[in-house]
Amino acid sequence: MVHTKVTVENKSQAGYDIGMKRIYLDNAAATPVSTVAQKAVAETSKKFPGNPSGIHKEGRSARAVLEGARAEIAGAISARPDEIIFTSGATEANNMAISGIVQFARKNGIANPHIIVSAIEHPSVLEVVHAMEKYGIRVDYLSVDSRGLIDTKELRKLITPETILVSIMYANNEIGTVEPITDIAKEIRHARKMSGSVYPYFHTDSAQAANYLDINVLRLGVDLMTLSSGKTYGPRGIGALFVKRGVQMIPLMYGGEHEDGRRPGTEAVALASGFATALREAQKMNVKEGKRVQKLRDALASKILKKISGTSVNGDLSKSLPNILNISFDGMESEALVLYLDASGIAVSGKSACKSSDSAPSHVILAIGKVGDGTAGAIRFSLGRDTKNEDISRVANEVIRLAPILREMQTNSN
Ligand code: PMP
Repeated sequence: MVHTKVTVENKSQAGYDIGMKRIYLDNAAATPVSTVAQKAVAETSKKFPGNPSGIHKEGRSARAVLEGARAEIAGAISARPDEIIFTSGATEANNMAISGIVQFARKNGIANPHIIVSAIEHPSVLEVVHAMEKYGIRVDYLSVDSRGLIDTKELRKLITPETILVSIMYANNEIGTVEPITDIAKEIRHARKMSGSVYPYFHTDSAQAANYLDINVLRLGVDLMTLSSGKTYGPRGIGALFVKRGVQMIPLMYGGEHEDGRRPGTEAVALASGFATALREAQKMNVKEGKRVQKLRDALASKILKKISGTSVNGDLSKSLPNILNISFDGMESEALVLYLDASGIAVSGKSACKSSDSAPSHVILAIGKVGDGTAGAIRFSLGRDTKNEDISRVANEVIRLAPILREMQTNSN
C-alpha cells in the first residue's frame, strides 16, 4: 500500500491557527474533564493531603474521602464498596482481571485454562491474552458479524469445562457496537450450571459504555467490569475494576496492603473523588445526553453518506453507542483526512488512540469483514457533551470539501 505524504501547504486556507473554534470529535479517546469533577479533584487534593494509610487525623480524613468515592462508584453500578478496586485506568483493570484470574486458576490446579475473548477487544485485552498464549494458555477469539456483534450461540460452542474466563467488551471503542451483555451473562450462567463450577467468570470492559448505557452490574450479570475515569469526563489516571465478591484473583503487583491487598500503591484520593463525581454525573445524564448526541451523530452520518460516494458506516448505527460514527472512505487513507481535518480545526481519529501510530488496518475493521480499499480509510468521529448542532454542519462540510481532494492526491501518489 502506498502512503500519501500529507503536507498542509496553505494553512490559512485550511483554517489552521486563524482563531477558528476547534471542534473536538475524539471523545472516545479522551473526554474533557467536567467542571464538577475538576473541582472535586482540586478541592480534595488541597483539603486532604494525608496518606489514607496513616492512622493520624490527616490519614483518617483522606481515608474517609477515598472510601466515600469508592462507595459512590459502587452505588453507581449497584456493587458493594469492597467490590471496587481502584486502578490507574482501564488498561490496568483489564490486565488485572485477565492475568489475576488466569494465575489464580493455574495456581489452584487448573492445568489448561482456556479463555474466550471477542475478536474486537481493545488492545489492553487482546495483547494480554496474546501474552498468555505464549505461556500456554488456550485462547479463542469469538468472531463478530458485519455489525460487530458476537453471537451467543457461537459462544456456547466455544465454552469447555476448562474455560475460566470470558471477556467481551460492553461497547467497542472504534465502531461503537454494543454487545449483548445480559444474553452473554445468561449463557455463562447456563455453562456454570451444567458444569457445577464457579467458572467461567464473565468480565466486560465498560470503558466506553459508562456515559450512555446502564452499567448496573446486577442487571448486567457480570462478575468483573472495567471502568475508566478518563473516558467519563473524570480526571485521567484512574479507573476501577469491579470484582464480584467470591471471585478469586492473584494481584498484578506486589508492594503493600492497599486496596485490600489487591492493588498496592498510595491511593490517588483526589482522582478517586473526581472519578466518583464524574461517574455520578455521567449516569445522571446518560439517557438524555445519549438521545442528543445520537441525533447529531445520525445527521453527520447521513450528510457524509449522501454527499460522498464510496463511503460506508462501519458497524450498525442502530446497535451502537450513540456518540460513535465510524466511516470508511474508499480510495483514501485515514491519516490524510485526520491531518487535514486537524488543520481545519477538527479533531477526529483514524483508529483507537492506542494504535494510531500503526498504519495497518484496524483489527476491528477487519473483523467486521471489511476488505480492500475501505480498510485503510476508516475514520472515527466520536461526539461528546461539547458537540453542538453547528459543529456537525461544519464537520460535514469540511469532510465533503476534503474527500475529493484527498482522493485525487492518493490516486496521483499511487
Ligand atoms: N478499553 C477500551 C474499550 C477503551 O476504549 C480504552 C481507551 N481507549 C481502554 C480500554 C484503555 O483505557 P485507559 O486509557 O483508561 O487505560
